[in-house]
Amino acid sequence: MTELADKSATAIIPSPRRHVQAMKEYHPPLGNRDVLRLDFNENTVACSPKVREVLGRISAGSLTRYPERAPVEAIVAAHLSLAPEQVALTNGVDEAIHVLFETFLEEGDELLLPVPTYTMYEVYASATDARVVTVLAGDDLRFPFKRLLAAISPRTKIIAIANPNSPSGSAATRSQLLEIAVRAPHAVLLVDEAYFHFHGETVIDQVGVIPNLIVARTFSKAYGLAGLRLGLLAGPVELMRWIRRVLSPYSVNSLALACLPPALEDTAYLDWYVGEVLEARAEFEAALDEVCVRRWPSRANFVLVEIGAQHKEFTRLMSGAGVLVRDRSTDPGCHGRVRITIGTREQMRQAVAALNETLSVLKMQAHQHAP
Ligand code: PMP
Repeated sequence: MTELADKSATAIIPSPRRHVQAMKEYHPPLGNRDVLRLDFNENTVACSPKVREVLGRISAGSLTRYPERAPVEAIVAAHLSLAPEQVALTNGVDEAIHVLFETFLEEGDELLLPVPTYTMYEVYASATDARVVTVLAGDDLRFPFKRLLAAISPRTKIIAIANPNSPSGSAATRSQLLEIAVRAPHAVLLVDEAYFHFHGETVIDQVGVIPNLIVARTFSKAYGLAGLRLGLLAGPVELMRWIRRVLSPYSVNSLALACLPPALEDTAYLDWYVGEVLEARAEFEAALDEVCVRRWPSRANFVLVEIGAQHKEFTRLMSGAGVLVRDRSTDPGCHGRVRITIGTREQMRQAVAALNETLSVLKMQAHQHAP
């Protein structure tokens, strides 16, 4: 060994912050997904052809420039009937959550979360000095409104509510959300409307009216642009000004910015996709009922189902049949439960065939293993 290599082997290396050392690793299973993707709640078809057209026209020269976010923010704000200062575009809602938490959470603060819910709230909170306080939903996985209200403390700084929620698919009502905002005036209420288009209900009209309400939206789901990474936060100017200080001016790239206006304009495409998913969801739910698989009512483009002890084998067999689904067993209160994204009716017929085949194999195995 050379002297240099020898020294580096024993050298003290810089250590990250204490909270980062304690963070759990999060590796979503994103490899080998060239089959039917019912695992990440993405759009399962494509984005609007109008977006595709714009993408195809982007010149090499235009890529030499830094992206300018403000003009597109103004377009999105107008689309949402908000003022441009009330809207910040982000690199997906994940960046929005990250930046919001970095802006508001400090030592002694609490992030209040109904669980199970979207994993990244806890991941990003764990990198801050704040404490995460969770309120576990009951077996029906409905929004635990009363207990969440009871868990609000003077230290609550952010309450994050995915509405509809993942992986349950359940939703809080508008009046519940508005009451939470009123009961915690010292906290930011983040309503994450990632699955808004499949639900149809929103509180975004209350942005700027309720002083502590911030709404998140994504272009990863109904719009089919998960690969471009595009999301937004909408909130009162008094809160958004702090968020803008933390947010990188360049985190939304120029391809995403170019694609956003045609995505918003093509309402026919969006209506078609959402309509297709809602019809497919009803058919899929009926198919689950027919084979007596327990399911939770969903307001989003996915359904959580009860598989039980064989959840790992179920997920593996489905994948072998060309249908990826997501085992949520490690989520609080979700042991043995698997989340299945809803695609088109045709795709879901393929999913039902794989499901029936998988269930019969599992039943056979269970009989073989029975004493
Ligand atoms: N919020 C919720 C509730 C989600 O389920 C997801 C994605 N699975 C996100 C946010 C992340 O969205 P984005 O792709 O915009 O980062």
